[in-house]
Amino acid sequence: MAAHQEKKLAEERKHQNMQNDTKTSQGQWGRAWEVDWFSLASILFLLMFAPLIVYYFIMSCDQYQCSLTDPLLDLLTGNKHLSDIWNRTPMLTYRAAAIYSLWVTFQVFLYVSIPDFCHKFLPGYVGGVQEGAVTPAGAVNKYEINGLQAWIISHVLWFANAYCFHFFSPTIIFDNWIPLLWCANILGYAVSTFAIIKGYFFPTNAKDCKITGNFFYDYMMGIEFNPRIGKWFDFKLFFNGRPGIVAWTLINLSFAAKQQELHGEVTNSMILVNVLQGIYVLDFFWNEAWYLKTIDICHDHFGWYLGWGDCVWLPYLYTLQGLYLVYHPVQLRTDYAMGVLMLGLLGYYIFRMTNHQKDLFRRTNGNCRIWGKKPEYIECSYMSVDGTKYYSKLMTSGFWGWARHFNYTGDLMGSLAYCLACGFEHLLPYFYIIYMTILLTHRCIRDEHRCSSKYGKDWKCYTAVVRYRLLPGVF
Ligand code: NDP
Repeated sequence: MAAHQEKKLAEERKHQNMQNDTKTSQGQWGRAWEVDWFSLASILFLLMFAPLIVYYFIMSCDQYQCSLTDPLLDLLTGNKHLSDIWNRTPMLTYRAAAIYSLWVTFQVFLYVSIPDFCHKFLPGYVGGVQEGAVTPAGAVNKYEINGLQAWIISHVLWFANAYCFHFFSPTIIFDNWIPLLWCANILGYAVSTFAIIKGYFFPTNAKDCKITGNFFYDYMMGIEFNPRIGKWFDFKLFFNGRPGIVAWTLINLSFAAKQQELHGEVTNSMILVNVLQGIYVLDFFWNEAWYLKTIDICHDHFGWYLGWGDCVWLPYLYTLQGLYLVYHPVQLRTDYAMGVLMLGLLGYYIFRMTNHQKDLFRRTNGNCRIWGKKPEYIECSYMSVDGTKYYSKLMTSGFWGWARHFNYTGDLMGSLAYCLACGFEHLLPYFYIIYMTILLTHRCIRDEHRCSSKYGKDWKCYTAVVRYRLLPGVF
């Protein structure tokens, strides 16, 4: 009797699990439909404090030689009041507003008006019109991939204007750094606010919208999946990949020029930071078509997190090392500098190869060679909102057999190298590795949660084969 009851219960559980599996794989993947209290608390924290964090870092360089503790000590001991610090902060200027507007307008122009020509003469480069991944609603968007040419044109014009025609000084970005911060904030908030209004009232693809009903969550994480104006102006690709990232290398060059102006030399640490971060930025543009398949474009909705983050967080906090080196020109011992360079290059190699292996594997549907052998994989399936079943594969060999996100591990090694290039005198330049560790660990967990609801039991089989997330044997 007991055995019979147990069998019935087990059958009921199995039936329920199957229903859950189907439910979770239908329309559940992508960002959450419901908001838990922890996500809400984190979002409120970020909305309130992220702009202050950026201000604090930039202000501490401007007023306290990049010391993170001195402003706090001054305030706690009553040596200074908040108003003293604020009164010494440069305000928004017409000049900064003009520079910023010109920059963003120029990037919009390059993005929407000049079809890619680089793929016509650069062997191996994939540009022009490319398709993104299938969205949760089953749509496939087309993108004009022309970021590399936008980067090249912007840099040629920069060098021509700064060094040949002398229209402006190469230190122009450093000289207007805080006034430009206000401009970046205005754009960041404006675009995020526009995105939520657009999401509510005139979305590009209503089926790919998610509204939780919680205003703060929707504002932060976005409603629309791929907001667009017209056929080609894609918010996610533009804000993720243009005004901030194209500027990243120019910002570093401006910091190097300022170091030269102030100290009469460009230190090897500044060169290291420029070179390593330059490789990372160029890699991004060379692989822009691949970028269409990354989480930012494939899974994140467009809200404040991406809109404000791309306009403010990225250009201001990812460039802290260069800014720090203007105030502290560190000349590294040659063997130490070589060690940092090696770490940065090895990190970059792992980052690129891991991403490349997945890209090749997915593009060829597994018909390729990874480390000279046919790749091993697990077959998996998922469903879009309309109930269409799709099939996919999860690779279990190459770097993807070592850990489930070894690309993040390589990225972290590179990030550590940028920080180590600044020596050990201050904490500020190490913000990047601390932030990236939190970002990528959280991203890894978020991605796995999404993959688990997308692939259900197939994901469990995969994690049983590839057991570690970032570091084999450790985590
Ligand atoms: P990944 O490129 O690792 O993509 C994760 C997706 O890949 C999963 O959602 C899944 O998508 C698919 N996938 C997972 N495992 C496998 C597998 N074994 N075989 C095949 N496909 C698999 O993540 P990101 O998009 O986050 O990162 C891309 C790169 O960008 C990383 O190198 C990261 O370091 C970097 N990055 C840098 C940031 C920065 O600020 N500097 C920020 C974020 C990322 P599917 O649904 O298609 O199965």
